[in-house]
Amino acid sequence: MRFTPPSSRRWDGSLVQARARRSLRVSSDSASRLLRCGQSDRCRDCGNLIEWYHRTAGRPVRLHPHELPAEKVLVACHWHVSCGVAHPASDGSGWCRLPHAMLCPASDALPAAPELAGLRRVLAVNTRRLIDSGAFVPPSVPPSTKASPMTTCRPTRPVVQLLYVRYLAPRPVDEIQCVAQTCRRHRCTSPLLPPDAPAGVWTLLPTTAAHGQLPLLGAVMAVYVLTGLPYAEQLRWRAQRCPEHAAIPTAADVAVAEWETFDPLVHHEHIHTRLPTLTRRQGPTGRSRKTTQL
Ligand SMILES: [Zn+2]
Ligand SMILES: [Zn+2]
Repeated sequence: MRFTPPSSRRWDGSLVQARARRSLRVSSDSASRLLRCGQSDRCRDCGNLIEWYHRTAGRPVRLHPHELPAEKVLVACHWHVSCGVAHPASDGSGWCRLPHAMLCPASDALPAAPELAGLRRVLAVNTRRLIDSGAFVPPSVPPSTKASPMTTCRPTRPVVQLLYVRYLAPRPVDEIQCVAQTCRRHRCTSPLLPPDAPAGVWTLLPTTAAHGQLPLLGAVMAVYVLTGLPYAEQLRWRAQRCPEHAAIPTAADVAVAEWETFDPLVHHEHIHTRLPTLTRRQGPTGRSRKTTQL
């Protein structure tokens, strides 16, 4: 039996033109590195589809996945998307986008425009359908009411300070995952904190409130402080990229960075008044240290 190499000609003699595969790249001057496939998600409160978009300032915004007739939405609520970035204004066309928060049936607030009440009812019916079919489980008990002594020692959503801003992390520090796309087009599974990378320091800091309010007298909270790290390292953490993908600026993102700006009034259940006692994961050298420097 002999292996026959594939012929470069078809049966009728015409040449087969094999297309060279192009690897996906994001322009280095692009305002957003988030791929379109990374924008779709479901609202954690109601289970309906949303789309994440970066905006020029602030956290990414969740938009309703469809355009709406502009005349049915208050002008102050108009959004549009340009070059992958969401802008809180009209683009002059007859259509506009809308933040999901204005339609979310899990919210008590009614839509500002009465014309949108019908769409909110459709989303509410869809939520009920998802719950009945078991496809969606609404968030029920706040994490603080079911916290065990173990979770008290290891915050499930720690407060992280980087670039002099405090953020609420999506999960424990050593479990935060890179958002970049690998060459196999999957989400990178590397952690932000590999064993050999410089780590932050758990510190008790005043529970400073947001919006310029004064801290509560004597109130302190455990914060994972990264401000002692080099500026480039803090940028890497803010972009939620592992060291390998931080070195590849053209690699795309398949998920939105999950940092949430920390507000002690909103996120009070995530405030811990004592330092966690943690053991850092073992690296390739097998070294491990029980410390408050995760
Ligand atoms: Zn919702
Ligand atoms: Zn990565």
